Amino acid sequence: MTTTIVPRHAPSVRPDQSDDVWRKAGDWLQRHQATIRMVQWTMVLVYAVLLIVPVFLPLPDNAAYLWSNFTRFAQFVFWGVWWPLVLLGTALVGRIWCGIFCPEGAISEFASGRGRGRAIPRWMTWPGWPTAAFACTTLYGQMTSVYQYPAPTLLILGGSTLAAALIGFLYGRNKRVWCRYLCPVSGVFGLLAKLAPLHFRVEPPLWQLSQLSGTKPKAINCAPLVPIRTMRGASDCHMCGRCSGFRGAVRLARRSPNHEIVHVAGAVAKPWETILIVTGLMGLAAGAFQWSVSPWFVQAKTWAAERLIEYGVTWPLEATAPWWILTNYPGDVMTLLDGALLVAYVLAAAIASGASTFSSLALAARCLGPWRTRRLHHLAQSLIPLAGAGVLLGLSGLTVSQLRSDGIVLPFVDPLRAAVLTMATFWSGVLCWQVTGIYSRQPVRRMLALFLVGLAMMPAVAGWVLLFWIW
Ligand code: SF4
Repeated sequence: MTTTIVPRHAPSVRPDQSDDVWRKAGDWLQRHQATIRMVQWTMVLVYAVLLIVPVFLPLPDNAAYLWSNFTRFAQFVFWGVWWPLVLLGTALVGRIWCGIFCPEGAISEFASGRGRGRAIPRWMTWPGWPTAAFACTTLYGQMTSVYQYPAPTLLILGGSTLAAALIGFLYGRNKRVWCRYLCPVSGVFGLLAKLAPLHFRVEPPLWQLSQLSGTKPKAINCAPLVPIRTMRGASDCHMCGRCSGFRGAVRLARRSPNHEIVHVAGAVAKPWETILIVTGLMGLAAGAFQWSVSPWFVQAKTWAAERLIEYGVTWPLEATAPWWILTNYPGDVMTLLDGALLVAYVLAAAIASGASTFSSLALAARCLGPWRTRRLHHLAQSLIPLAGAGVLLGLSGLTVSQLRSDGIVLPFVDPLRAAVLTMATFWSGVLCWQVTGIYSRQPVRRMLALFLVGLAMMPAVAGWVLLFWIW
């Protein structure tokens, strides 16, 4: 006689009819992995052409347009279209870029299937790598003018791809160890994916039911090493679809874009995510987009040059470095003074913005009750819409300036920027309000915390206002 064991917690959430289309879309991905691989290798080809060919072409002159010069075209595609769309896409549909289109992830996984298959070393699992790598590549990209020249683009993106292949070859078997632990943009993608209204939802009761029924489904290979059974958010998931339908408990589903930040992100304190949001995206990245048009930078440079001349030390004003250290092209040369001031400006923006934002967040966390570090990190998560929108606006600034240099003026840009910034700030405020509700029922405390988080947003908002409307 067989006994049917019914779990104490019967499945409470069942796929409703309106979600059927998403479930089917997830299942479609699961069944079409060969098609996805074809897409990935096509992207590898496109990526390689855009990355490598411009290096062998002469640098474009003033008469070159993006439709008549391949280097200009590649520049525009990479920085003006590709990156802004990847960021926007991640916030809209999760990390589908990583799982379906990313050439680096595909190469890393391919290498991992044929490599040494070693165990992942402990040092690699340090959670600070994505934040540190993001900061270093952002700074180095500015020093070498990565948005303007093909050689540093090849060096930075190509170097990252080589590293991804090497890590894949050495560690894991059919995994994406690089993407999981080291990719310089995985931290940013992980943050933005928390806003996505789509995710692969795991229903623990259905999973449990499947286990109790004795079913042994074929194992799935989750390349970015997500613990699927306990997955509650979209931050680490690459949306590859391989686990769709697994044990009848995983499906692509809609959710509120606020859900993960309000109800999931506070469960575990993630200090490195706080640093990435507050110092990386709202400080360092903003400084990187600003310095070249900042009158403060010009004033600091004039002041430093005058002092150096006064003391008879003129070599920092004349000495240059190879292009792979500091920008060095005919008619566009950074001196050591330029380079030092650029690094100082971007770091100062990161420290100043980070310190003031962090202080306001800490006060807001304290307003909600006795000090809890986890609460501070949870409140920091509510800044993700503003932090993400800032980077998107910064990148779209490149799109606009590239088009403008080719005579294409987009008249609606300023109102659109204002709308994006306002909506992102408002969204962060709404998230903050909902997060405060988890920690306090007292309206006064919550209002005070909201006010302080509003203050925390001010440096970033002011930075973008200065960049787009005042300077
Ligand atoms: S949890 Fe893993 S296998 Fe499932 S969709 Fe996400 S990345 Fe793919």
